[in-house]
Amino acid sequence: MSYVAPIKDMLFVMNELAGLNAVNALPGCEDATPETVQAVLEENAKFCSEVVAPLNVSGDREPSAWQDGKVTTSKGFREAFKAFGEAGWQGVQHPAEFGGQGLPKLVATPCIEMLNSANLSFALCPLLTDGAIEALMTAGTESQKQIYLEKFISGKWTGTMNLTEPQAGSDLALVRTRAVPQGDGTFRLFGTKIFITFGEHDMAENIVHLVLARTPEAPEGVKGISLFIVPKFLINADGNLGERNDVHCVSIEHKLGIKASPTAVLQFGDHGGALGTLVGEENRGLEYMFIMMNAARFAVGMQGVAIAERAYQKAVQYAKDRVQSRDLAGSAGAVPIIHQPDVRRMLMSMRSQTEAARALAYVTAAALDAAHHHPDQSTRKANQAFYEFMVPIVKGWSTEMSIDVASTGVQVHGGMGFIEETGAAQYYRDARILTIYEGTTAIQANDLVGRKTVRDGGATARAILAQVRRTEQELEAQTGGDLAAIRNQLAAASRALEQVVEYVVGNVKTDIKGVFAGSVPYLKLAGIVFGGWQMARAALAAQRLLDEGSGDASFYRAKIATARFFADHMLSQATGYRAAIVEGSSGVMALEEDQF
Ligand SMILES: Cc1cc2nc3c(=O)[nH]c(=O)nc-3n(C[C@H](O)[C@H](O)[C@H](O)COP(=O)(O)OP(=O)(O)OC[C@H]3O[C@@H](n4cnc5c(N)ncnc54)[C@H](O)[C@@H]3O)c2cc1C
Repeated sequence: MSYVAPIKDMLFVMNELAGLNAVNALPGCEDATPETVQAVLEENAKFCSEVVAPLNVSGDREPSAWQDGKVTTSKGFREAFKAFGEAGWQGVQHPAEFGGQGLPKLVATPCIEMLNSANLSFALCPLLTDGAIEALMTAGTESQKQIYLEKFISGKWTGTMNLTEPQAGSDLALVRTRAVPQGDGTFRLFGTKIFITFGEHDMAENIVHLVLARTPEAPEGVKGISLFIVPKFLINADGNLGERNDVHCVSIEHKLGIKASPTAVLQFGDHGGALGTLVGEENRGLEYMFIMMNAARFAVGMQGVAIAERAYQKAVQYAKDRVQSRDLAGSAGAVPIIHQPDVRRMLMSMRSQTEAARALAYVTAAALDAAHHHPDQSTRKANQAFYEFMVPIVKGWSTEMSIDVASTGVQVHGGMGFIEETGAAQYYRDARILTIYEGTTAIQANDLVGRKTVRDGGATARAILAQVRRTEQELEAQTGGDLAAIRNQLAAASRALEQVVEYVVGNVKTDIKGVFAGSVPYLKLAGIVFGGWQMARAALAAQRLLDEGSGDASFYRAKIATARFFADHMLSQATGYRAAIVEGSSGVMALEEDQF
């Protein structure tokens, strides 16, 4: 089944919830006019559905393959990636001075979503390259920017993120790769990195690895990690490619999903040392990597939205086609299963969660645009805090949601869902990685508790909850059963979240394990409440547009109905999460280790 980009939905979210007009009014974002944005989305949708989506199933069936250190990507990937670069899609959000389109993050976000919906494996290569661009923009020297950025943005070269080692996964303090200074400003790197996405492939002229490593005198732990650029082919003074560097792909992994994406084991320095240059200052590597990771974590959250959307589209199509069982209200014979209330429940649950996660992510993207471009410093600061608070939620909640949604998609298909032929199973398998890489859900939740909630004493969480209250007040002023029901559920859910925030802030010193026992449920609760908040805002906007009598009434009524479903079926879970977090922590650590 082909992918149909939900452009109408995307534009609704961008215009009504994320404030595209306000973003367009920011200095530096003047190009993001409604007409340009619509044209970019339509062109991107065309490229994704016509060029990239057709490679999704074939890539799953014939994954990337390794032989003698070389990786051949799945059929069609090379050509599609070339077309991707030439069409300028790598550069949507990157600066025009390096060949990008310089558009806001809010505009790049639906493009990222579409690419991932079309083909999660393919989209990983640009995703990692975006991360490398981000790192160099943040901490690279002028010369590094000149050498690499234009090549990345044109799609000639690609980037990777080299963090993980066999003994260092979630805990990067354990990184052991060594970087030995050569006295001329360069370093030679020695070590093994595992699980490196697109660490080796045949789609670009050069692969540029951003590598975490330790210099000889570096302190132990995370304070002794530096960031290096290690290109596969060294770059001559004239900018042309030179000798092969001493970094080699010794194997790629066989995986549950995203099979077309090569996941490489990279060996650095087996033949004298891989030449690299430092990015930024020594021992500040993790700090830079975090900037890159925030962008990458957000993008992985978008992967969750994207795969959920794809799974939903597939399930809807099947539910309309598959004839089975009579209609409960009576029918002459068997009817399409979409008549069955439980199938409807599944479809609504898929649809409403996907819409909520999309809305939260786009609003978060707009906050980053304001954080970068708003003329007022305090507004920039508030938006930066909002963005940073939301990144672990967008990453953690949207990806956990995507597994549920893809699993429900399999269920809608019945037995055929379990059979690879339909494609529903691939979405489920592909989605499964999303809660693991770029930091597992537990690591996102630790970030949400530690850095994002406790560090400022709950101030950002409370400020966002105050915004939720304002939406509740707006809902109160409205008549109509749906909006009232949404308000009631949102109010109860936001109270539950508020109590959890106070519990986290108030107990972290005295009962740290108790608080962290509830960290993932806290993240999920936050996702439900803030996702539900956006759904409530969507319902308000839809009601206003209905009242004005403009636009597509059926679309707006569906928005309200979907928001109502989310409120009744998802926001209503919030009080259960609160109870599990605030009252249930003792059970988590109740058993002794030897009782397991
Ligand atoms: C397909 C794929 C692609 C990848 N791509 C890349 C890449 O491009 N670059 C790269 O550097 N890495 C990459 N990774 C690695 C990925 O980021 C790690 O697998 C991930 O961070 C988890 O680390 P780990 O596998 O060592 O698990 P572990 O850290 O061993 O975790 C195991 C379990 O323990 C839990 N846990 C560990 N520490 C804590 C804690 N402090 N609090 C609570 N729970 C905890 C985890 O949540 C998890 O459930 C990739 C992995 C895969 C599978």
